Amino acid sequence: MATCDVCGNDYWMSFEVKTTSGEVYTFDSIECAAQRIAPVCEHCNCRILGHGVEVSGRFFCCAHCARHAGSEGEQIRDTVGAHPG
Ligand SMILES: [Zn+2]
Ligand SMILES: [Zn+2]
Repeated sequence: MATCDVCGNDYWMSFEVKTTSGEVYTFDSIECAAQRIAPVCEHCNCRILGHGVEVSGRFFCCAHCARHAGSEGEQIRDTVGAHPG
């Protein structure tokens, strides 16, 4: 049994996540993990749960938000939607 770092639930299926900075967190759910460690989009403030976009160390949820970063970000295109053919 391990206790979730976010909500305090002592749950038998709790799991650990090690971040790039070497910190280890314990969570009882993906929801709690997202709340603690998912980056937040600088433009719209949503949590980045997919791959997201990084522009010079700044994080964005999608190409549209990344374009607001200026410079390099302006070159980023959307890759979602229907593909022709
Ligand atoms: Zn939790
Ligand atoms: Zn966004």
